[in-house]
Amino acid sequence: MGTVRIGSTVIGGGTFAIIAGPCAVESQQQFLKVSMFLKELGVQILRGGIYKLRTDPNSFQGLREEAIAWLPEIKQHIGLPLVSEITDPRQVEKLDPVVDCYQVGTRNMYNYELLKELGKTRKPVILKRGFSALIKEWLLATEYLLAGGNDQIILCERGIRTFETFTRNTLDLAAVAYIKSKTQFPVIVDPSHAAGSSDLVLPLAKAAKAVGADGVLIEVHAEPSQALSDADQALNFMGMQALFKELS
Ligand code: PEP
Ligand code: MN
Repeated sequence: MGTVRIGSTVIGGGTFAIIAGPCAVESQQQFLKVSMFLKELGVQILRGGIYKLRTDPNSFQGLREEAIAWLPEIKQHIGLPLVSEITDPRQVEKLDPVVDCYQVGTRNMYNYELLKELGKTRKPVILKRGFSALIKEWLLATEYLLAGGNDQIILCERGIRTFETFTRNTLDLAAVAYIKSKTQFPVIVDPSHAAGSSDLVLPLAKAAKAVGADGVLIEVHAEPSQALSDADQALNFMGMQALFKELS
Protein backbone atom coordinates (compact mmCIF):
# COMPACT_ATOMS: atom_id res chain seq x y z
CA MET A 1 0.00 0.00 0.00
CA GLY A 2 1.05 3.65 -0.09
CA THR A 3 2.24 3.24 -3.63
CA VAL A 4 1.20 0.76 -6.31
CA ARG A 5 3.13 0.02 -9.47
CA ILE A 6 1.47 -0.47 -12.87
CA GLY A 7 4.13 -1.42 -15.39
CA SER A 8 7.02 0.88 -14.53
CA THR A 9 4.81 3.70 -13.25
CA VAL A 10 4.33 4.24 -9.53
CA ILE A 11 0.87 5.44 -8.49
CA GLY A 12 0.87 7.39 -5.24
CA GLY A 13 3.84 8.86 -3.46
CA GLY A 14 3.57 12.37 -4.80
CA THR A 15 3.36 12.03 -8.57
CA PHE A 16 0.24 12.52 -10.71
CA ALA A 17 -0.55 9.65 -13.08
CA ILE A 18 -2.58 10.00 -16.24
CA ILE A 19 -4.18 6.74 -17.36
CA ALA A 20 -6.01 7.08 -20.67
CA GLY A 21 -7.62 5.15 -23.47
CA PRO A 22 -10.95 4.33 -25.02
CA CYS A 23 -13.96 3.24 -23.00
CA ALA A 24 -13.90 0.01 -24.99
CA VAL A 25 -11.47 -1.81 -27.21
CA GLU A 26 -13.50 -1.76 -30.44
CA SER A 27 -11.13 -3.07 -33.11
CA GLN A 28 -7.41 -3.53 -33.73
CA GLN A 29 -7.30 -0.39 -35.81
CA GLN A 30 -9.19 1.75 -33.27
CA PHE A 31 -7.11 0.57 -30.32
CA LEU A 32 -3.79 0.88 -32.11
CA LYS A 33 -4.56 4.39 -33.33
CA VAL A 34 -5.55 5.79 -29.94
CA SER A 35 -2.76 3.93 -28.13
CA MET A 36 0.00 5.16 -30.42
CA PHE A 37 -1.31 8.70 -30.10
CA LEU A 38 -1.30 8.42 -26.30
CA LYS A 39 2.16 6.88 -26.24
CA GLU A 40 3.55 9.68 -28.36
CA LEU A 41 1.91 12.20 -26.05
CA GLY A 42 3.70 10.65 -23.06
CA VAL A 43 0.90 8.69 -21.42
CA GLN A 44 2.40 5.70 -19.59
CA ILE A 45 -0.65 3.55 -18.84
CA LEU A 46 -3.50 2.65 -21.19
CA ARG A 47 -7.10 1.79 -20.41
CA GLY A 48 -9.60 -0.05 -22.59
CA GLY A 49 -12.58 -2.25 -21.79
CA ILE A 50 -12.52 -5.79 -23.16
CA TYR A 51 -15.62 -6.96 -21.30
CA LYS A 52 -18.17 -4.17 -20.94
CA LEU A 53 -20.87 -4.14 -18.25
CA ARG A 54 -23.64 -2.16 -19.89
CA THR A 55 -26.92 -1.10 -18.36
CA ASP A 56 -28.74 -1.90 -21.62
CA PRO A 57 -28.23 -5.56 -22.63
CA ASN A 58 -28.74 -4.61 -26.27
CA SER A 59 -25.75 -2.28 -26.33
CA PHE A 60 -22.14 -3.24 -27.18
CA GLN A 61 -20.85 -5.76 -24.63
CA GLY A 62 -17.17 -5.53 -25.56
CA LEU A 63 -15.11 -7.55 -28.02
CA ARG A 64 -14.39 -10.07 -25.25
CA GLU A 65 -12.42 -13.18 -26.32
CA GLU A 66 -12.02 -11.81 -29.84
CA ALA A 67 -9.86 -8.96 -28.48
CA ILE A 68 -7.96 -11.22 -26.09
CA ALA A 69 -6.82 -13.23 -29.13
CA TRP A 70 -5.02 -10.32 -30.81
CA LEU A 71 -4.19 -8.01 -27.90
CA PRO A 72 -0.88 -9.67 -26.89
CA GLU A 73 0.67 -8.86 -30.27
CA ILE A 74 -0.73 -5.33 -30.43
CA LYS A 75 0.36 -4.67 -26.84
CA GLN A 76 3.86 -5.80 -27.59
CA HIS A 77 3.96 -3.36 -30.48
CA ILE A 78 2.66 -0.48 -28.34
CA GLY A 79 4.79 -1.30 -25.31
CA LEU A 80 2.54 0.15 -22.59
CA PRO A 81 0.70 -1.53 -19.71
CA LEU A 82 -3.08 -1.96 -19.94
CA VAL A 83 -5.82 -1.46 -17.35
CA SER A 84 -9.04 -3.32 -18.20
CA GLU A 85 -12.22 -4.17 -16.37
CA ILE A 86 -12.89 -7.68 -15.11
CA THR A 87 -16.60 -8.34 -14.83
CA ASP A 88 -16.66 -11.94 -13.63
CA PRO A 89 -14.35 -14.14 -11.50
CA ARG A 90 -14.16 -16.66 -14.37
CA GLN A 91 -12.28 -14.10 -16.50
CA VAL A 92 -9.07 -14.04 -14.41
CA GLU A 93 -7.32 -16.73 -16.42
CA LYS A 94 -8.41 -15.29 -19.78
CA LEU A 95 -7.41 -11.72 -18.94
CA ASP A 96 -4.13 -12.56 -17.24
CA PRO A 97 -2.00 -12.52 -20.42
CA VAL A 98 -3.26 -9.10 -21.59
CA VAL A 99 -4.05 -7.10 -18.46
CA ASP A 100 -1.46 -5.42 -16.22
CA CYS A 101 -4.00 -3.99 -13.78
CA TYR A 102 -7.57 -5.16 -13.21
CA GLN A 103 -10.34 -2.60 -12.96
CA VAL A 104 -13.36 -3.40 -10.81
CA GLY A 105 -16.21 -1.28 -12.12
CA THR A 106 -18.79 0.64 -10.18
CA ARG A 107 -21.42 -2.08 -10.76
CA ASN A 108 -19.12 -4.70 -9.29
CA MET A 109 -17.75 -3.05 -6.17
CA TYR A 110 -20.17 -5.22 -4.21
CA ASN A 111 -19.27 -8.41 -6.09
CA TYR A 112 -17.46 -10.05 -3.21
CA GLU A 113 -16.76 -13.31 -5.04
CA LEU A 114 -14.97 -11.28 -7.73
CA LEU A 115 -12.98 -9.40 -5.08
CA LYS A 116 -12.02 -12.68 -3.38
CA GLU A 117 -10.76 -14.03 -6.70
CA LEU A 118 -8.72 -10.87 -7.34
CA GLY A 119 -7.37 -11.12 -3.80
CA LYS A 120 -5.64 -14.31 -4.89
CA THR A 121 -3.87 -12.59 -7.80
CA ARG A 122 -0.79 -10.44 -7.37
CA LYS A 123 -1.76 -7.88 -9.98
CA PRO A 124 -2.80 -4.34 -9.05
CA VAL A 125 -6.52 -3.63 -8.84
CA ILE A 126 -8.26 -0.31 -9.49
CA LEU A 127 -11.33 -0.52 -7.28
CA LYS A 128 -13.99 1.92 -8.43
CA ARG A 129 -16.48 3.20 -5.92
CA GLY A 130 -20.00 1.83 -6.32
CA PHE A 131 -22.25 4.64 -7.51
CA SER A 132 -24.24 4.52 -4.29
CA ALA A 133 -21.54 3.15 -2.01
CA LEU A 134 -20.67 4.73 1.30
CA ILE A 135 -16.96 5.40 1.79
CA LYS A 136 -17.21 2.83 4.57
CA GLU A 137 -18.52 0.17 2.15
CA TRP A 138 -15.82 1.07 -0.38
CA LEU A 139 -13.12 0.62 2.25
CA LEU A 140 -14.67 -2.65 3.43
CA ALA A 141 -14.50 -3.89 -0.17
CA THR A 142 -10.70 -3.40 -0.05
CA GLU A 143 -10.60 -5.84 2.86
CA TYR A 144 -11.76 -8.65 0.57
CA LEU A 145 -8.69 -8.04 -1.59
CA LEU A 146 -6.38 -7.63 1.38
CA ALA A 147 -7.69 -10.84 3.00
CA GLY A 148 -6.48 -12.80 -0.02
CA GLY A 149 -3.06 -11.20 0.22
CA ASN A 150 -3.37 -8.62 -2.55
CA ASP A 151 -2.52 -5.16 -1.22
CA GLN A 152 -1.91 -3.62 -4.67
CA ILE A 153 -5.06 -1.52 -4.49
CA ILE A 154 -5.82 1.84 -6.09
CA LEU A 155 -9.17 3.41 -5.25
CA CYS A 156 -11.03 5.30 -7.97
CA GLU A 157 -13.73 7.89 -7.34
CA ARG A 158 -15.93 7.99 -10.48
CA GLY A 159 -18.92 9.97 -9.28
CA ILE A 160 -21.90 8.90 -7.22
CA ARG A 161 -25.61 9.01 -7.96
CA THR A 162 -27.40 12.00 -6.47
CA PHE A 163 -30.59 13.93 -7.28
CA GLU A 164 -28.70 15.85 -10.00
CA THR A 165 -29.41 14.93 -13.63
CA PHE A 166 -27.53 17.55 -15.70
CA THR A 167 -24.28 15.71 -14.94
CA ARG A 168 -24.10 11.92 -15.35
CA ASN A 169 -22.93 11.52 -11.73
CA THR A 170 -21.77 13.81 -8.93
CA LEU A 171 -18.01 13.79 -8.41
CA ASP A 172 -17.37 13.40 -4.69
CA LEU A 173 -14.09 15.23 -4.20
CA ALA A 174 -14.55 15.16 -0.42
CA ALA A 175 -14.26 11.37 -0.62
CA VAL A 176 -10.90 11.77 -2.37
CA ALA A 177 -9.64 14.13 0.34
CA TYR A 178 -10.98 11.76 2.98
CA ILE A 179 -9.21 8.71 1.51
CA LYS A 180 -5.97 10.67 1.20
CA SER A 181 -6.04 11.89 4.76
CA LYS A 182 -7.35 8.78 6.52
CA THR A 183 -5.96 5.82 4.57
CA GLN A 184 -2.77 4.64 2.89
CA PHE A 185 -4.42 3.85 -0.45
CA PRO A 186 -3.52 5.72 -3.61
CA VAL A 187 -6.66 7.27 -5.06
CA ILE A 188 -7.40 8.35 -8.61
CA VAL A 189 -10.38 10.15 -10.13
CA ASP A 190 -12.36 9.26 -13.24
CA PRO A 191 -13.79 12.59 -14.45
CA SER A 192 -15.11 10.99 -17.65
CA HIS A 193 -17.76 8.87 -15.95
CA ALA A 194 -18.35 11.48 -13.25
CA ALA A 195 -19.29 14.16 -15.74
CA GLY A 196 -20.58 12.14 -18.67
CA SER A 197 -19.63 15.03 -20.89
CA SER A 198 -16.31 15.71 -22.63
CA ASP A 199 -16.30 19.47 -21.92
CA LEU A 200 -16.40 18.85 -18.15
CA VAL A 201 -13.50 16.38 -18.09
CA LEU A 202 -10.63 18.90 -17.92
CA PRO A 203 -12.09 21.09 -15.13
CA LEU A 204 -12.90 18.02 -13.03
CA ALA A 205 -9.45 16.54 -13.66
CA LYS A 206 -7.87 19.81 -12.50
CA ALA A 207 -10.04 19.73 -9.39
CA ALA A 208 -8.96 16.14 -8.74
CA LYS A 209 -5.32 17.17 -8.83
CA ALA A 210 -5.98 20.17 -6.61
CA VAL A 211 -7.68 18.03 -3.97
CA GLY A 212 -4.73 15.64 -3.81
CA ALA A 213 -5.66 12.72 -6.08
CA ASP A 214 -2.78 10.56 -7.28
CA GLY A 215 -3.99 10.55 -10.86
CA VAL A 216 -6.87 10.43 -13.30
CA LEU A 217 -8.48 7.86 -15.56
CA ILE A 218 -9.56 9.44 -18.84
CA GLU A 219 -11.60 8.17 -21.80
CA VAL A 220 -10.23 9.12 -25.22
CA HIS A 221 -11.35 8.24 -28.75
CA ALA A 222 -10.04 9.22 -32.19
CA GLU A 223 -13.62 9.98 -33.24
CA PRO A 224 -15.74 10.36 -30.10
CA SER A 225 -19.04 10.52 -32.00
CA GLN A 226 -18.31 7.05 -33.44
CA ALA A 227 -17.46 5.43 -30.08
CA LEU A 228 -19.44 2.26 -29.39
CA SER A 229 -19.80 3.19 -25.71
CA ASP A 230 -19.68 6.43 -23.69
CA ALA A 231 -19.36 8.63 -26.80
CA ASP A 232 -20.48 11.85 -25.06
CA GLN A 233 -17.69 11.83 -22.49
CA ALA A 234 -14.72 10.78 -24.65
CA LEU A 235 -12.04 13.39 -25.28
CA ASN A 236 -10.80 13.71 -28.85
CA PHE A 237 -7.06 13.88 -29.49
CA MET A 238 -6.97 17.67 -29.21
CA GLY A 239 -8.83 17.60 -25.91
CA MET A 240 -6.50 14.92 -24.58
CA GLN A 241 -3.45 16.90 -25.66
CA ALA A 242 -4.73 19.94 -23.77
CA LEU A 243 -5.45 17.88 -20.64
CA PHE A 244 -2.03 16.24 -20.71
CA LYS A 245 -0.29 19.56 -21.15
CA GLU A 246 -2.18 21.12 -18.28
CA LEU A 247 -1.86 18.26 -15.79
CA SER A 248 1.41 16.44 -16.39
C1 PEP B 1 -15.50 2.24 -17.57
O1 PEP B 1 -14.44 2.56 -17.01
O2 PEP B 1 -15.64 2.25 -18.80
C2 PEP B 1 -16.68 1.94 -16.73
C3 PEP B 1 -17.65 1.16 -17.17
O3 PEP B 1 -16.65 2.58 -15.55
P1 PEP B 1 -17.68 2.55 -14.32
O4 PEP B 1 -17.62 1.14 -13.79
O5 PEP B 1 -17.12 3.57 -13.39
O6 PEP B 1 -19.04 2.92 -14.85
MN1 MN C 1 -16.80 4.02 -20.10
